[in-house]
Amino acid sequence: MNEHDEHPLHLDGNALAGPLGEVFLVDPTTAWRRCPSCLRPSTLAELHVYGPEPGLTARCPGCAAVALRVVTQPGHLWLQLGGGAGAFRFSRPRIMP
Ligand SMILES: [Zn+2]
Repeated sequence: MNEHDEHPLHLDGNALAGPLGEVFLVDPTTAWRRCPSCLRPSTLAELHVYGPEPGLTARCPGCAAVALRVVTQPGHLWLQLGGGAGAFRFSRPRIMP
């Protein structure tokens, strides 16, 4: 069994580029982190992303610990870093039809 068999049915972290690109001025997919649970280093693009409802949940490719969650609503974007409490809410630019 390889790592892809352990956590099937996910996208890679590039799926987060759209919603996070609305609030970050730099490409967020190149952000680096070390998992606090298994100490595996990875970029945001390497995370395993599940969703889309009720939001996108990105998990460590090594141990599946929650790295972040993103929920978009009209006018707002909620960003939760890690698996604990403490989400950040960002205002989203209004998109005109
Ligand atoms: Zn991990």
